Amino acid sequence: MCKPLEVLDHSTHGYLAYCPDCGGFTLAFGTTLAVMLEDDIRRMGEHVSTQLKAHRNAVCPNAKAFMFKPGTNSTCQMVLTYTEMEHLETMLNRGMLLYEAQSLLHDATG
Ligand SMILES: [Zn+2]
Repeated sequence: MCKPLEVLDHSTHGYLAYCPDCGGFTLAFGTTLAVMLEDDIRRMGEHVSTQLKAHRNAVCPNAKAFMFKPGTNSTCQMVLTYTEMEHLETMLNRGMLLYEAQSLLHDATG
C-alpha cells in the first residue's frame, strides 16, 4: 500500500505529485490525469519545452495546436494550446526541481 503522494507543484491548472513508495508520478492537468514514470515525465518536459521554442509566435495561443501522449505506453493524448503548454512547462519545471532537491536531501540524510 502506497503512502500519501508528495505534491511537487500545484496551480489552478492541476498538480504534479510523487509516490515515494512506488516511484510513480501523478500528473493532473486540465481534465487529464496520468500516472507516469520518471523517464516519461522527463521526456514530456523536454518535448513541451522543444515545442514551445519551435512554435513561439507561430501559432494562435488559444488554438489546440499541440497533441502528444503523456507516456510512451499511454493510450490517451494530451491536446493543448500554446498557453496551456506554457502552464504545463512551468508545472513540470517547478515540480521536477523540487523533486531533485528532495532527492538530494534524502541521499544526504540516508
Ligand atoms: Zn505508489
